[in-house]
Amino acid sequence: MKDSMKMLKGLLQKIIHTHEDELDCQQVYEVLDVYAEMSARGEDVSAALPMVKHHLEMCKDCEEEFEALMRVLEESHTP
Ligand SMILES: [Zn+2]
Repeated sequence: MKDSMKMLKGLLQKIIHTHEDELDCQQVYEVLDVYAEMSARGEDVSAALPMVKHHLEMCKDCEEEFEALMRVLEESHTP
């Protein structure tokens, strides 16, 4: 789990190099669970992954998926 950030950065790097401007939903889905996990831990995801944040602001489907993930994470983190 500690390597999630490293893994995510590698993945993002790949995505960013192939798509310069915007991610599509498929690409966001691939990183969304890690993104949500980081966000739940209080990490600065908007700085680390601005493209994902940007997509979530634009895309209702992914935003809902993100909210759902956050709910699950919050529940699992609450004793
Ligand atoms: Zn989307």
